[in-house]
Amino acid sequence: MSDVSAPIRTRFAPSPTGFLHIGGARTALFCLLAARSTGGEFVLRIEDTDRERSTEASVQAILDGLAWLGLEYDEGPFYQSQRLARYREVAEQLLQAGLAYHCYCSRERLDELRAAAMAAGEKPRYDGRCRDRVEVPEGVEPVLRFRNPQSGTVVFEDRVRGRIEVANSELDDLVILRGDGTPTYNFAVVVDDLDMAINLVIRGDDHINNTPRQINLYRALGAEPPQFAHVPMILGDDGQRLSKRHGAVGVMAWREQGYLPDAMINYLARLGWSHGDQEVFARPELVESFRIEDVNRKASRFDTDKLKWLNQHYLRAGDRDQALRELAWHMERAGLNPAAGPDLSGLLDVQAERFDSLVELVEQSRPFYADFDDFDQAAARKHLRPVADQPLQALAERLAAVGDWSPESLQAELQATADALGIGFGKIGMPLRVALMGHGQSPAIHHTLWLVGRERSLARIERARNFIAERVANA
Ligand code: GLU
Repeated sequence: MSDVSAPIRTRFAPSPTGFLHIGGARTALFCLLAARSTGGEFVLRIEDTDRERSTEASVQAILDGLAWLGLEYDEGPFYQSQRLARYREVAEQLLQAGLAYHCYCSRERLDELRAAAMAAGEKPRYDGRCRDRVEVPEGVEPVLRFRNPQSGTVVFEDRVRGRIEVANSELDDLVILRGDGTPTYNFAVVVDDLDMAINLVIRGDDHINNTPRQINLYRALGAEPPQFAHVPMILGDDGQRLSKRHGAVGVMAWREQGYLPDAMINYLARLGWSHGDQEVFARPELVESFRIEDVNRKASRFDTDKLKWLNQHYLRAGDRDQALRELAWHMERAGLNPAAGPDLSGLLDVQAERFDSLVELVEQSRPFYADFDDFDQAAARKHLRPVADQPLQALAERLAAVGDWSPESLQAELQATADALGIGFGKIGMPLRVALMGHGQSPAIHHTLWLVGRERSLARIERARNFIAERVANA
């Protein structure tokens, strides 16, 4: 067993058959934290030997997802598809040493074996017919099988799950090279983890049944296996395994829904890992506090409300540059030009605390960057009435003259207008809000004025007064 306190050298090894999903992103994060917290390294390896299912687009989606989350690897990406010669070389070594053998069994025979095992209620396993075969059938492209030990027990101490024991009698002789010479997952992963000097494998516990087979392969290669940490799966809010049914599972879909990378990272870290009852962790704190042993053994449940809560926190109090960068990205997606309105920094100051998603924040900020078509009918009927005309006019005069277009002086002008007319603040606030936004929701009214800007505010007040005049004319 390797030393537990040694720097961890680990890897994230996604198969590029889809997006970087939430579970994968969390595994990558745990890999990064395990490596950084021990002064070790984190390697990225793309497991693309399945040529049918692997796509360029998926590779790119994974790289993009990692980059967006800020999960920087120290080495890689390595591609298994570029290491095929190496897998063949190691397979040849096993063959020469008598630790692997050619298997000529036909697909039909293997299917029959499987069907018979299923019918008998047993686990399907290869019966070893080719183990000691001497005569070689003509014209059959053999696969290469590993000669798995037939007795004894594989034991390992999983750093999340604890001690795991599997009898070799449970395991069969697994295929390591297919007929076309490409390696199978279990074989390539062992060759790679050895060549890349990985000392801790962190991965989803859907791989836990593969681990004893892999340990046997390490031993056959005369190597000490790495340590393993199998992390439990993620369930949806309803307790079922997280899937497309639950909405966005791809990391970039969360970006599209308005979440910040730091909020996602904080959320994913706490999804199945804890450190006391602390909820909010800056990245350096995560590195400081993380220990792989503190990952829960039990599956964790996705909790969208908690993610929203964290997102709100990071919008308000997190890394400003990150929030501004994401805000600009969402503005563009919404077809809004940041140059056509207040600068994004001011917008964020005012709006961050009102929303937990950037999508909503941007949608509700639209009137600061573009004109709206029509007044919301109900709001206009209620607030753009003849009594509002005089306050709007008086305010417009003051706004035209105000020297310093700041929230403070705008607040003072609003107060002065209300005082001069002897009316309450509300008598001016609501009509003004509808005039400026087209509807009744906005930040505090002096902030709204500030964000809409002088020229637009004056034009919109005029438009509201025209609406009132028309209403009077049509009455
Ligand atoms: N390529 C495997 C997967 O995406 C990961 C295997 C591993 O980490 O060993 O599930």
